Amino acid sequence: MTPVTVFAGKTVAVFGLGGSGLASCRALVAGGANVIAFDDNEKSIAAAKAAGFNTQDLRQADWTKIGALVLAPGVPLTHPKPHWSVDLAKAASVEIIGDVELFCRERAKVAPDTPFVAITGTNGKSTTTALIAHILKSAGRDVQVGGNLGTAILALEPPKAGRTHVVEMSSYQIELTPSLHPTVGVMLNVTPDHLDRHGTMGHYAELKEEVPQRAAHAVIGVDDDYGRGMARRLEEKKHSLTPISTTGLIAQGYVAGSTHLYRVKGKEAEEVADLDGIGSLRGLHNAQNAMAAFAACAALGLSDAEINSGLRSFPGLAHRMEEVGRKGHVLFVNDSKATNAESTARALGSFETIYWIAGGKPKEGGIVPLAEFFSRIRKAYLIGEAAQDFAKTLDGKVAYEMSGTLDKATASAARDAAADSSPAPVVLLSPACASFDQFQNFEKRGDAFRDLVKGLV
Ligand code: ADP
Repeated sequence: MTPVTVFAGKTVAVFGLGGSGLASCRALVAGGANVIAFDDNEKSIAAAKAAGFNTQDLRQADWTKIGALVLAPGVPLTHPKPHWSVDLAKAASVEIIGDVELFCRERAKVAPDTPFVAITGTNGKSTTTALIAHILKSAGRDVQVGGNLGTAILALEPPKAGRTHVVEMSSYQIELTPSLHPTVGVMLNVTPDHLDRHGTMGHYAELKEEVPQRAAHAVIGVDDDYGRGMARRLEEKKHSLTPISTTGLIAQGYVAGSTHLYRVKGKEAEEVADLDGIGSLRGLHNAQNAMAAFAACAALGLSDAEINSGLRSFPGLAHRMEEVGRKGHVLFVNDSKATNAESTARALGSFETIYWIAGGKPKEGGIVPLAEFFSRIRKAYLIGEAAQDFAKTLDGKVAYEMSGTLDKATASAARDAAADSSPAPVVLLSPACASFDQFQNFEKRGDAFRDLVKGLV
């Protein structure tokens, strides 16, 4: 845990008592602050009380005595409308910050020169965060990894000389972190997402831009207009910057040609890595993640050989094109995290001969945008509420079975794939749907698939 001493002797309100909120309470108390913890959910308040924290309805609190409101990233700051605790803090001129801000202030106080990598973007944050941490660890560095992914930032070990923090940041967290000054700031890509919470695309992109802009060294994906704009603005200011591109056409930085990564300097391009055969980094989207990790680790002083060794041993993250088993020549892949067509497109584009398990709680647009990948699908196994709708889209184009449930789908797909004589058939769970109709969350769905595959192989 990272004790937060910058509020020692002061009173701090913490609203939103999930994992990161409770970690904030713990860190503040350990650093000598008085904490008032609160939530709209009775159960969360009870959990905080049971953990020994002082809880009080913040509507009844004396806000003139409160030094800061620490808001959990899930609580609306502006959109669709400010949460009531935000209104109360604003009315009392109390600053509103997040857990990453507490970390940044503490780091500035106790170990300002220690490496701190912050990663953002619409897609690929978790993979890139885990990959950077893995490469640094495999090169022998002392690494703490967390943030939006996994462990809450204040539950990590504190900054100290020789230790690197690698932290995933959602746009909600960026908004609550005015003192963000990472050593390396990675911004992968910007596509529409969470506009319900950020209002406009422009505001969402501006938040993402904070990460590279405030970093000593910026790494920016320049495959979309937003990233290109950010890179151009930083270049104009002569900011230290590495652009990365999966489409080529940059004067310096890294580019990917399918599985090959190149470092570009003017007219020269030197191959620095080959991702072929790395199961955890399949697909061009993972080439983007790998280039971002390469650039970040190079900026932290790792050699090309050290970075390559880390890339090759990256185990990948659970539920993101995770290889969960092999039976004969059939590979089983769990991509349960793919809850929309865009994510599923990445998976379908990564394999040639696919027995596809899809469906669940449908999202708008269904699988219509996936038509360009239909020729790769030998057969689809449809489950959940979306099955009828998906069947309509596939009708006459792709063979399908109305499996209904994941266990039936897995059994049928395994049987059909086993009889396929092509060299590398894949049974792929990439649902293009949320899981809530049949599972508690995408993790539970992926775990169920992994267990079913284990039973088969
Ligand atoms: P995030 O943490 O940003 O949600 P993840 O690393 O968990 O991202 O990946 C989630 C899904 O997003 C993956 O299963 C994949 O389909 C897709 N994805 C991963 N990296 C990228 C990328 N660089 N660009 C576009 N899509 C990506």
